[in-house]
Amino acid sequence: MYKYNGLSENLISVFGEKVYKLSLDGGMTCPNRDGTLSYGGCIFCSDGGSGEFAEPFCDDIGLQIERAKEKVKFKAKSKYIAYFQNFSNTYGEPRFLKKIFTAAISHPDVVALSIATRPDCLGTEVLNVLKDLNKIKPLYVELGLQTIHDKTAKFINRGYDLVVYLKAVEELKKIGINVVTHLILGLPGETEQMILESVRLVGQLTDGIKLQNLQVLKGTELERLYNSGQVKVLDKEEYLDLLCKCIKILPPNVVIHRLTGDPPKKILVAPQWCANKKDTLNSIRRAFSLQNVVQGDDSDDEFRL
Ligand code: SF4
Repeated sequence: MYKYNGLSENLISVFGEKVYKLSLDGGMTCPNRDGTLSYGGCIFCSDGGSGEFAEPFCDDIGLQIERAKEKVKFKAKSKYIAYFQNFSNTYGEPRFLKKIFTAAISHPDVVALSIATRPDCLGTEVLNVLKDLNKIKPLYVELGLQTIHDKTAKFINRGYDLVVYLKAVEELKKIGINVVTHLILGLPGETEQMILESVRLVGQLTDGIKLQNLQVLKGTELERLYNSGQVKVLDKEEYLDLLCKCIKILPPNVVIHRLTGDPPKKILVAPQWCANKKDTLNSIRRAFSLQNVVQGDDSDDEFRL
């Protein structure tokens, strides 16, 4: 029996009840999109900066929170994580970052802050802002690593090497911040062994992990490569098999934040099997059951997130 540490269960143990994420927009861009590093961005990155479900940007973060709460009203819960997902959310003036993030964590229903960013957007001043925020409410910083292999990183135009990620993790841990790392399974040219090497190394460093298959979205460089036959995507069985292998080698303390992506259907090119998140999660549950993989308390909360 392989037990894994699901996010839902973990949040209940930390906050005493179910906690939901509110996707917010900090109005950021990304050095890999604005010409600082490149204009194209990572080859899989969509126009929305890999965060299509966020509230539209408006200066008033409190208002964004109220609007986002309306959307999850059916879940009728009072505790939330303010989640800044799209683009690189520490790519800005430290004073501006402090202002918007403080506005988010000051909301009485927000119990924690989650910030997705690049490891090369964590300079000293930014780290100081994050350190102060973390003293007010818990802070999760999500790093979009995708792979530990620099050859693949170059191919996907990630724009930084592994060593940058390693340093960022060290700095964040030094100031007590919870680090979550995002990996994509099935990147071009990666073998199963390479994928498991990424999972193994990240598992030793990170507090939490997000796993998903490679998804081709409209308007991306990846779409061009896919349409010209230069890139393939995993079929469902291949992904489920890989996912089980990844879960089995992760240390039990690493919290699993994501088992599949949630691509916006209208811009998903391939694979179409992941268009329906609920269906994919049910398939994952069946695959886990066949492979004796269960969540820590045998609950299936992760699948209802
Ligand atoms: S770092 Fe994130 S926002 Fe920037 S190009 Fe890559 S996926 Fe897009």
